[in-house]
Amino acid sequence: MKVLVINSGSSSLKYQLIDMETEGVVAKGTCERIGIPGSKLTHKANGQEFVYEQEMPDHNVAVSLVLNALTDEKAGVLASMDEIDAVGHRAVASGEVFKKTTLVTDETIAQMEELCDLAPLHNPAALIGVKACRAAMPNTPMAFVFDTSFHFTMPDYAYMYAIDYTDYEKYKIRRYGFHGTSHKFVSQEAAKYLGKDAKDLKVITCHLGNGSSITAVDGGKSVDTSMGFTPLAGVPMGTRSGDLDYAAAEYLAKKNGWDISETLTYLNKKCGMAGISGVSSDFRDLTAARDQGNARAKLALDMFAYACKKYVGAYAAAMNGVDCIVFTAGVGENTPCVREAICDNMQYLGLEIDKEKNLEKNNGAIRDISGSNSKVKILIIPTNEELVIARETVELL
Ligand code: ADP
Repeated sequence: MKVLVINSGSSSLKYQLIDMETEGVVAKGTCERIGIPGSKLTHKANGQEFVYEQEMPDHNVAVSLVLNALTDEKAGVLASMDEIDAVGHRAVASGEVFKKTTLVTDETIAQMEELCDLAPLHNPAALIGVKACRAAMPNTPMAFVFDTSFHFTMPDYAYMYAIDYTDYEKYKIRRYGFHGTSHKFVSQEAAKYLGKDAKDLKVITCHLGNGSSITAVDGGKSVDTSMGFTPLAGVPMGTRSGDLDYAAAEYLAKKNGWDISETLTYLNKKCGMAGISGVSSDFRDLTAARDQGNARAKLALDMFAYACKKYVGAYAAAMNGVDCIVFTAGVGENTPCVREAICDNMQYLGLEIDKEKNLEKNNGAIRDISGSNSKVKILIIPTNEELVIARETVELL
């Protein structure tokens, strides 16, 4: 069985074709600059990379180019697109409407359209991709796999905001959390690696990338997570502020003459690591600048690690302990100084990082970087959100 996984953005479309027998990636690629002059498709298959520089005025053209590449004589891996048994679409926001992976139908598409209000940055883009795929493959079953699903096990006292309860009831304003497929995958991988049943483990998963979130996973279930109603909340990120006093945002808006939407754009795009450092949102640039003595890059990195450390402490309190801390995603897998700063001075939790092992180069495998006396396991686990989306799609069908 072969599953095509689609992650559609407003001007991009990433895909992976996964063979579910081996769970191996048969082909993958990205369409960039959809709807913008200079679009291109980069397709990797058969051990080679194929680049198609071709205009893609919309997602329909992008999807047909992807299907052509997958069935092409040279770059292709399929005799025909009938060999695609199912398509799994990454969907970000579900509201309280969809609590689990859901079949794509006219009805669920209409429901997703109603939710666009809730996630204006993400859901419309996902829907464009879904519609383009349906037009090209009308008979292939498809699923929406949500970033939020894993977090529906949070107890009410963790997901509620202390606002007027009737506003929660009317508008479903609450913590939803994101990166659920990643937190689920790495927490399950951690249990497998440790030879334990997930039910017997308290794990804190740190998905640290351009967007970052931290989750408390107790007995295999998400019980709290740092992102909120939107992915703006929690630790500071590449360009997002993370947690902030709302009155500071109002004050900033007044001073700059911004409306709410301009203020939100600022908090999503101009803050975080980029805003503090004035250097970059990219942790490679930040660590390089800090190492050359840039004080604001150092401050940004210090703030990031401190915020993550506070969530680790909070989630150990929430779960009455922690057995394992997992680092994953671009920064979590590749930035030793961030891992060390988060784990440093946590002896009260029985946490001790092996500084040498932590510095070893990322080899794409699971790595145990706990010190020999550490009571808490510290693991680096490469995430694989596409595989989770493919598995969930197969499970649903
Ligand atoms: P997202 O999926 O949220 O866009 P990623 O998980 O790809 O983000 O993480 C992007 C961040 O990870 C960047 O700040 C980048 O510096 C860092 N990163 C990614 N790959 C590497 C690498 N090979 N070495 C060092 N840092 C990396």
